[in-house]
Amino acid sequence: MVADPIISVRDLRKSYGTFEVLRGLSFDVARGERIAILGPSGSGKSTLIRCFNRIEPHDSGTLHIDGTVVDARCDLARLRAEVGIVFQNYNLFPHLSAVENCMLAPRLVRGMTRHAARDGAMRRLAQVGIAEQAAKYPIQLSGGQQQRVAIARALCMDPRVVLFDEPTAALDPEAVAGVAAIIDALARDGITTLCVTHEMGFARRIADRIVFMDDGQIMEIAPPETFFTSAVTERARAFLARMV
Ligand code: ADP
Ligand code: MG
Repeated sequence: MVADPIISVRDLRKSYGTFEVLRGLSFDVARGERIAILGPSGSGKSTLIRCFNRIEPHDSGTLHIDGTVVDARCDLARLRAEVGIVFQNYNLFPHLSAVENCMLAPRLVRGMTRHAARDGAMRRLAQVGIAEQAAKYPIQLSGGQQQRVAIARALCMDPRVVLFDEPTAALDPEAVAGVAAIIDALARDGITTLCVTHEMGFARRIADRIVFMDDGQIMEIAPPETFFTSAVTERARAFLARMV
């Protein structure tokens, strides 16, 4: 499907009890590619990306990320360093400053010295344009600033893949544009991004390809210009019609 994929998903399935939330998904993602995942609420988008760093284990099918098989035997600390995730509500530790939030995983997982972890954290905070806020606590930062800290925190582990789950849901348009610019910069560094979003303009702006999900399945994969102007499936067209 894709030459030299960094992510390869084959017949991925997952159930919660008797409810099958992922119903046999297969697709590949190229290295450095930017994917936007769209679909109705409840279609399984969050569950899918959570399988990628095993916050949720899948039940069957195979998942390869950068040559590693993601399964019950894989090294979770290593996987989660390689595959970072940024949540809608940021999930920052409220009792730690911005820079301390970014230092935590490098200290605990990598065993970095305070000094090295602080250096790395400051570099990443600068990369997302927020170094001057390093000493502030989450409550002292705007939503957009907290989201930048959350992205910097993921980047501190030098991930190859970064997952975003509705990163712009609570942001104003200027902050949304900031997140888009960060995703572009990551792609230029060869980092692969998968972003669940319900904002069509944002998806069009940041994605090389759109993955459209409905009812636990991938209904359509296409470049944004194709997806938004001439979606093939009835479900994608109905979804897009509801969005305008
Ligand atoms: P999306 O992100 O596309 O809105 P989700 O992946 O969050 O969808 O959820 C897909 C379906 O799985 C929904 O019907 C949701 O209620 C259900 N679901 C999600 N997480 C759990 C869970 N931990 N236990 C049971 N059902 C869940
Ligand atoms: Mg979701």
